[in-house]
Amino acid sequence: MLNAFTVDLEDWYQGLEIPDSAWQGYESRIEYSTNLLLDLLDKHRVKATFFILGPIAEKFPDLVKRISRQGHEIGSHAYSHQFLYRLSPEQLRQELIRSKCLLEDITGKKVTSFRAPFFSITKDSLWALEILSREGFQYDSSIFPVHNYRYGIPKAPKVPFQFRLNGAGQIIEFPISTVKFGTASLPFSGGAYFRLFPYGFTRFCFRKLNNDQIPVVFYIHPWELDPEHPRIKLPRRISLTHYANLKSTKKKLDKLLQEFRFTSLEEVLRNETQGPTLFPEDLAKL
Ligand SMILES: [Zn+2]
Repeated sequence: MLNAFTVDLEDWYQGLEIPDSAWQGYESRIEYSTNLLLDLLDKHRVKATFFILGPIAEKFPDLVKRISRQGHEIGSHAYSHQFLYRLSPEQLRQELIRSKCLLEDITGKKVTSFRAPFFSITKDSLWALEILSREGFQYDSSIFPVHNYRYGIPKAPKVPFQFRLNGAGQIIEFPISTVKFGTASLPFSGGAYFRLFPYGFTRFCFRKLNNDQIPVVFYIHPWELDPEHPRIKLPRRISLTHYANLKSTKKKLDKLLQEFRFTSLEEVLRNETQGPTLFPEDLAKL
């Protein structure tokens, strides 16, 4: 069973909910940490999907080129790392155009996949899917079927589905994986969840989904492999998850890559049968 390996490519401070005007003050670790990740993927001969934040593409075009040349898929992670539900539709459209052009100019390849910062396609920002489709994106991996204070559509489908837009074509949504325990849906497949839960639990969840013929969408950030990145003062809720268990990520990831099969989102979708079709009003009602 092929699972999807995805990377949200941003520096360690860009997803911390601090104003982007403060970004220049911090040490960049993106090249160092991305190289750690690229080496690990190379060791296991895995191709992944990298969702790249606009300013990273602007400042580190050679890094983006290297990722693309190594055969990984390049997708967009928007430009400002803002919650989509805090942007206006026009602001999002401008961000998409800017980031897509940047990435396509650097790689010479079409960019058709997207992940929202903070998985922030929620019921308040379903309008984003129509804009994505109009701007040439064919699939999206931003909906997290869980309850979280920042994101989630808890009752959204757990498998890839077609989102049919009223008058604007369609887009395929590949939700972030969760596993069902009774009536609860638990997140497990990346980021802080992967670092906080014991490896045995991650393995159990992967097997459970794969046994049901469901591919897992796994996600990681390069800084999660870099325990030496600077420690700054953050609200407790954010700092507890951001800095948790960074030292063991690389080892755990090595084990995961050895035990399960992974490829890019693009490849997984090529092998997937078509999932259910939903309309905007179906998701809004959930
Ligand atoms: Zn991000």
